[in-house]
Amino acid sequence: EKSGADAEKVTYKVGTEPTFPPFDTTDEEQNIVGLDMDLIKAIGEDQGFEVTFENLSFDGLVPALKAGNIDIIAAGMNKDDKDRQAQVDFSDAYYESKLMVAVTADNETIKSVDDLTKDMKVAAQTGTTGANKTQKLQEAGKIKEAVILNGLDTAMLQLINGDVSAVINDKPVTEAYMKKQPDKIKMVGKPLNAENYGFAVQKGNTELLEKINAGLKNIKENGTFDKLVDEWFNK
Ligand code: GLN
Repeated sequence: EKSGADAEKVTYKVGTEPTFPPFDTTDEEQNIVGLDMDLIKAIGEDQGFEVTFENLSFDGLVPALKAGNIDIIAAGMNKDDKDRQAQVDFSDAYYESKLMVAVTADNETIKSVDDLTKDMKVAAQTGTTGANKTQKLQEAGKIKEAVILNGLDTAMLQLINGDVSAVINDKPVTEAYMKKQPDKIKMVGKPLNAENYGFAVQKGNTELLEKINAGLKNIKENGTFDKLVDEWFNK
């Protein structure tokens, strides 16, 4: 039985791009699930709000938030990016990540980003920090083409099929793809950056931002945060 107070709970629309496991993915019935979804749900439970999830392309998330079509972005989004900071407000960081170069498991020539050559295509997901790096490599004439794709699933498939020589993507997410398809993909070289994931709200929406930060702090203190991270990284 829902109490009167529960029935009046505000519901926020949370936007994500669900080819980013274990943070943002889909289950067998195509429901949007993942660590980001469970975290924002737990934060909502702590702070008295509910959430629904919207599937968008990664480069559509900031525009959708600015337009008010969604209220929150939960998408493994790097909060240190200056361009993004100019457009949205970020919560406190909830996860430290980094970009890595991924190649096929049997590749013996590419051992780091410096081994990428002028005849190679390199894939990344549109609008991401990985795409940014990949485009910079192309602009510097170090690779033939930055192949910018909508879904990371497509990027990984193109890598496995030999359509591209490498993928530049977030380490924990590439690791999730490695787990799904053992012995097909490996990561090489040193991290290309360091990033911190944050949830985003519309610029100036301090009321919602304060709720998210307070909820995040509480679920870290009560163990829920660690439990959810553990669950999603050990699936
Ligand atoms: N962390 C990367 C970024 O912020 C990629 C995020 C993603 O693909 N969901 O750009």
